[in-house]
Amino acid sequence: METFDIGIIGAGPAGYTAAFQARKLGKSVVLFEKDFVGGVCLNRGCIPTKTILHSAELFEEMKLSEELGLVVSDISVDFAKVIERKNKVVEKLRKGLELGLKSAKVTVVNEFAEIVDAKTIKAGENIYSCSEIICAIGSEPAIPPCFKFDGEFVLNSDDILNLETLPKSVVIAGSGAIGCEWARIFSAFGVEVVVVELAEHLLPLADIEVSKRVERIFKSKKIKFYTKTFVEKIENGAVILSNGEVLNPDFILMATGRKPRMHEKIEGVRYIGDVAGSIQLAHFAIKEAFEHVAEINFEKDLVPAVIYGCPEIAWVGKREQDLEVGTFEKSTHLISALGKSHCDNCTEGFIKILSQDGLVVGAHIVSKEASSLIQQLTIAIQNKIPVEKLKEVCFAHPTYSEGIFDCICNL
Ligand SMILES: Cc1cc2nc3c(=O)[nH]c(=O)nc-3n(C[C@H](O)[C@H](O)[C@H](O)COP(=O)(O)OP(=O)(O)OC[C@H]3O[C@@H](n4cnc5c(N)ncnc54)[C@H](O)[C@@H]3O)c2cc1C
Repeated sequence: METFDIGIIGAGPAGYTAAFQARKLGKSVVLFEKDFVGGVCLNRGCIPTKTILHSAELFEEMKLSEELGLVVSDISVDFAKVIERKNKVVEKLRKGLELGLKSAKVTVVNEFAEIVDAKTIKAGENIYSCSEIICAIGSEPAIPPCFKFDGEFVLNSDDILNLETLPKSVVIAGSGAIGCEWARIFSAFGVEVVVVELAEHLLPLADIEVSKRVERIFKSKKIKFYTKTFVEKIENGAVILSNGEVLNPDFILMATGRKPRMHEKIEGVRYIGDVAGSIQLAHFAIKEAFEHVAEINFEKDLVPAVIYGCPEIAWVGKREQDLEVGTFEKSTHLISALGKSHCDNCTEGFIKILSQDGLVVGAHIVSKEASSLIQQLTIAIQNKIPVEKLKEVCFAHPTYSEGIFDCICNL
């Protein structure tokens, strides 16, 4: 029986971050992974989707190249190559991570692991004794109980990463981050897309004005969507909606959430990342690992959310619908008012900042580079930097950040 200070099950963002942090503290670490290191994020989530999205966006932009004075003829998509590139990006990053774990002297065991008790793990034929166990086994796609993934017509976000050809038409159930990103990918590649959302608006977790803007963007991109509607039945290649509409797509992507991959919690074991069933985001998983192992706390109410695509969508803190009318101030700046957006031919969107008592409490951005812009406001909110102090900061020109400054100046 081998003995370690820490045994970690699952080598996704939560697990590998915990492993690196524990090694930094000089602890001996064994990390179990039944599949590939990097977890969902690297192998089936964040990285592969954003890699495919990059090809899709470039393809969409190239169609407008003449406007930019570039003559490109006969543009077409070789989807097999798009997937091949995605696989290469994932492999390259995975090799980097494997190497990093090796140099940090983390013992990686490529086996399915089971927790025997709060200090014992079983993997294959071996038993490992660990002073502490961290369970970071992540989550898996969820589907309403009346349906089943079949890998052919009813697909999940794993299945869709390995399509060999582009479909002609798809239905996407759910308009959260995964649903919206895939809607944008497919539509940019010229696929007919219909999104079906149960809530009143697309991206139901977003600020109401962001949701409405996304609906406008989807319309402009000819992405059809139904809100306050659900998929009632799937039969013989048809998707029947609660509004009576019958659709005949090549397949349906069920982007209806993810569920923790866990049966029952064992006392004395620490659960972090998606398996803990809180916020299912890679950066949340990473921060939980830092908090648990390195004792670096973070504000759980201030976790930025990002939806990728053109333009990006990002937010942090309070939404307008969370605040009582008359208790807050709001400042909105259109992206089209920024010189940089015209240089980039990307004028869609806005920056909206909400403040209370002279402090920023929420920020909502639809813009190119929103994923990076949101970080500036996350830092401002977390550190309670007064609006008046933010006005003293010098923002570079021409940038999208100037939109933040313009917003701040109107509060
Ligand atoms: C399509 C898609 C896009 C996404 N995009 C983003 C994004 O842009 N930004 C973002 O922040 N988040 C994104 N996410 C979410 C993100 O991937 C997850 O929040 C993150 O991967 C969670 O990390 P984790 O370490 O908790 O779990 P995981 O990444 O799920 O890792 C868990 C690991 O545990 C292993 N495992 C499970 N059981 C066992 C066992 N018994 N023994 C050994 N190993 C085991 C699994 O094989 C897996 O590798 C996306 C997810 C999907 C599906």
